[in-house]
Amino acid sequence: MFDKILIANRGEIALRVIRACREMGIKSVAVHSTADADAMHVRMADESVCIGPPSGAQSYLSIPAIISACEITGAQAIHPGYGFLSENANFVQIIEDHGLTFIGPSAAHIRIMGDKITAKETAKNLGIPVVPGSEGGVPDIAAAKKAAAEMGYPVIIKATAGGGGRGMKVAKNEKELVSAFSTARSEAKAAFGNDEVYMEKYLQKPRHIEIQVFGDGKGTGVHLAERDCSLQRRHQKVFEEAPGPCITPEERAKIGKICADAIGKMGYSGAGTVEFLYEDGEFYFIEMNTRLQVEHPVTEAIFGVDLVREQIRVAEGLPMSFTQDDLEINGHAIEVRINAEKLPNFSPCPGKITQYHAPGGLGVRMDSALYDGYSIPPYYDSLIGKLIVHGRDRTEALARLNRALGELIIDGIDTTVPLFHALLQEQDIHTGDYGIHWLERWLEENT
Ligand code: ADP
Repeated sequence: MFDKILIANRGEIALRVIRACREMGIKSVAVHSTADADAMHVRMADESVCIGPPSGAQSYLSIPAIISACEITGAQAIHPGYGFLSENANFVQIIEDHGLTFIGPSAAHIRIMGDKITAKETAKNLGIPVVPGSEGGVPDIAAAKKAAAEMGYPVIIKATAGGGGRGMKVAKNEKELVSAFSTARSEAKAAFGNDEVYMEKYLQKPRHIEIQVFGDGKGTGVHLAERDCSLQRRHQKVFEEAPGPCITPEERAKIGKICADAIGKMGYSGAGTVEFLYEDGEFYFIEMNTRLQVEHPVTEAIFGVDLVREQIRVAEGLPMSFTQDDLEINGHAIEVRINAEKLPNFSPCPGKITQYHAPGGLGVRMDSALYDGYSIPPYYDSLIGKLIVHGRDRTEALARLNRALGELIIDGIDTTVPLFHALLQEQDIHTGDYGIHWLERWLEENT
């Protein structure tokens, strides 16, 4: 059993992991940059170590500094949170070489899923339905034209090393393809240092449906149903819910079993998410994330499980605390992502919080590292809080979201909260009638 875990992250997710550790009687070690000396995760952890200057590259991404912090404090395991080093196979290898434990899947699984071409091939071989597209990478514009002609326009060009919605370009015809192809490649090169791209049929009105999976690393895999994350801006999720408002119990059982079986067959260990686009009753795999997702709390709410606790258990070599048969959906949960951003352009808005009050009451969870007087540093992601509500059904969850948003006070900076107030006025949000392009269109018309 671990008695001390180091959390290689910051912000709300670092708090999330510290909370699980504390409930399990495990000591926690926070790491932080000089800019985060006053951050809540540093205050809440049992110990903390400064690992470098403000820039993420020199602190939260510095593998030597993080390994040293483990050695200094005697932490036996590292939880990576999401982002930063959470899907870095090299990091996992180095951790293991130092006799420490990575709380997450194996380096090999991270590597396979981190490259979207090998991920798609692996998924296909495991019986998971995939989006029609090019056979592997597309080396040049001639090959791109040929692939597009075969699958039919519109097409999407995607970076094989992609993430966070970057390096993706849509082309409606051959003329657009020429420029989209070269822009996608140069964006991919700049963002990921790898300009390999592949192509897919561009689905016109899909929903984003993702299946939460969990493996014990010994051949058992389970699924914890789906999350619908269709409300996106620039391919980034802003509003997530579980279960999906348009998925039938039969569809859930079928796709869930396919994913759970695949995870078992892989010998996958820990939490993962298999992402799909869903259109006209069909699921199309787009990628797998080999980590805890930002939106995991909606799944926790409807199943009453603690996914971080399960991650830690599995990393310790223990079995999961539930079987597939134990997992039953209870009610409906919604999460909204509160970013320090100024509308209508969503420009980053760091600064000092003059007043913070978190909503509470029945079925309300606020995961945030904010506090009165805290200064949000300008160096990191703009996510400053996640408001999660749970109700007996979707209607109750929406009413609760409206009520909780009304109680929330974040003064001193601009946030994305007004967006959610406005969305709650929309009929389509109440009926659940939207796909992945709905929000972009709505923003164009309403801002
Ligand atoms: P990333 O890893 O950068 O998040 P994904 O492959 O998960 O990239 O895709 C992110 C989002 O981009 C999806 O949720 C969807 O909105 C859009 N997208 C990706 N592939 C397609 C496709 N083939 N057709 C339509 N939209 C797509």
